[in-house]
Amino acid sequence: MITEDKKEEKSLNFIEEIVEGDLQSGKYTQIITRFPPEPNGYLHIGHASSICLNFGLTNKFQGYTNLRFDDTNPVTEDTEYVESIKNDIRWMGFEWQNELYASDYFDTLYEFAITLISKGLAYVDDSTSEEIAAQKGTPTEPGKDNIYRSRSVEENLALFEEMKSGKFPDGSRTLRAKIDMAHINMLMRDPILYRIKHAHHHRTGNKWCIYPMYDFAHGQSDAIEHVTHSICTLEFAPHRELYDWLIEKLGIYPSHQYEFARRNLNYTVTSKRKLLRLVQEGYVSGWNDPRMPTISGLRRRGYTPESIRDFCDRIGVAKRENMIDVGLLEFCVREDLNKKALRRMVVLDPLKLVITNFPEGVTEMCHSENNPEDIAAGMREIPFSREILIEKEDFMEVPTKKYFRLAPGKMVRLKGAYIIQCDDFVKDENGEITEVRCTYIENSKSGQDTTGINVKGTLHWVSAAHAAEVEVRLYDRLFSVENVASEEGDFKDYINPESLHIITGYAEPALLEAQEGESFQFLRKGYFAKDPDSTENKLVFNRTVTLRDNWAKAAEK
Ligand code: ATP
Ligand code: MG
Repeated sequence: MITEDKKEEKSLNFIEEIVEGDLQSGKYTQIITRFPPEPNGYLHIGHASSICLNFGLTNKFQGYTNLRFDDTNPVTEDTEYVESIKNDIRWMGFEWQNELYASDYFDTLYEFAITLISKGLAYVDDSTSEEIAAQKGTPTEPGKDNIYRSRSVEENLALFEEMKSGKFPDGSRTLRAKIDMAHINMLMRDPILYRIKHAHHHRTGNKWCIYPMYDFAHGQSDAIEHVTHSICTLEFAPHRELYDWLIEKLGIYPSHQYEFARRNLNYTVTSKRKLLRLVQEGYVSGWNDPRMPTISGLRRRGYTPESIRDFCDRIGVAKRENMIDVGLLEFCVREDLNKKALRRMVVLDPLKLVITNFPEGVTEMCHSENNPEDIAAGMREIPFSREILIEKEDFMEVPTKKYFRLAPGKMVRLKGAYIIQCDDFVKDENGEITEVRCTYIENSKSGQDTTGINVKGTLHWVSAAHAAEVEVRLYDRLFSVENVASEEGDFKDYINPESLHIITGYAEPALLEAQEGESFQFLRKGYFAKDPDSTENKLVFNRTVTLRDNWAKAAEK
């Protein structure tokens, strides 16, 4: 899946080619794009792709990008969403030229409608939505003209004015473009331009009770802003004809629409409507739950802006829809965090280990690199003592063939500290191993080792007396099927019930200095970010991603 996409990226970065051609030919001296979210939810990874494309184009070629809130539907919109959208775009590393709202153009759009009516190119229709649907025809049969279509300009102007002034109830009338009820493109069969909706708008309040439809707001807003390249997703390709028709008939700035394929990630949903339901129905803790594919969820999970931009670059721009493997997103964040994240040792499933030849009550300091990939990150101190904790899975009573960790008689190195040898272990009445007893090898301390002993395994560990208890949240995919949208029934039936495990981890003291949002590599366990739920007494960490792709491993087995 990944390789196929990379091929596409090379041959199909067609939008950049178009822009370059337009600048070279002198068609434009400056390009203007816009990112047009509807403020009815939080931005998700699909939007990230559109953000990178729109802002990326104007960063690369001379130009700028407007942030335009497509707030023409009064009932679903909210200022909370507006703020989150702005916050997420800035966090991604982009800055818009102008912050604009389609609702700011309501007066102009109303004037545009008057222009169309005056030219005999729009009419007020008294049909119900059912009647309109019935008259529309099918892709193979033409639609039918109704009696309202032949209304005079004067009558239309008067009725439209009355629609605006609140005389008619919701749904009783619409304003429609007068194009061609037999047009081969169904969207050109007298599309609705305005509908009546007595609803409060988050910005215009109760000023309006008629609201423009998407098709009568989007292209017109583009034209008002002199957007040169209006980029949208493929499902709008059939709308382009109407987009061009309206611009031509209104004689306004000729913006052009270009389409690219929506980006879908496997094992998740990227539809604000569905994500809203997960939030409202309590399947997740909120829009920024670390399992959510929202930008705010990814941020909280520990994703970096660089990793998301890298992901968007790698998937590139495609002309046909496809499913992107979430593994690629995980790969991108591993790449980035490997360079940046400080290393810390945290034991997630502890087993007590006693070093019988190390004195009781003594603490010895060991030193280890904060990040072997970045010498400038320096070293940290790690306390070592007689009782330490290792992972349960790092000891085996009867080791299998390729097991290079601890087992009776075997040696391993404790990372940054000594080589130890396992002498014995203790079991409880249930047969569970409760303690491993070892001796440490003198002169084997990391960096000062003169023993010449070669060990195959290195374990992470913490000193039991110095360990800090932290809450660790381990995440798995939110959905257990690859293509959620293609499954039958309710998408919520496919939620993975095992998507969150909360455990206690035992951390080396240096982890206590973590800042909110800071990322760490917990040695051998993955990358983790400090969660805002942390308090002074209890730190909380989210696992961003494991060090390797566990799913790929599981699939191989
Ligand atoms: P949703 O179905 O999640 O509500 P939308 O397309 O309705 O998505 P908008 O807020 O209208 O969301 O989208 C803002 C911009 O982001 C649009 O230009 C849209 O085409 C783009 N966009 C939305 N989802 C995706 C996606 N999955 N892949 C690429 N671009 C997307
Ligand atoms: Mg939309």
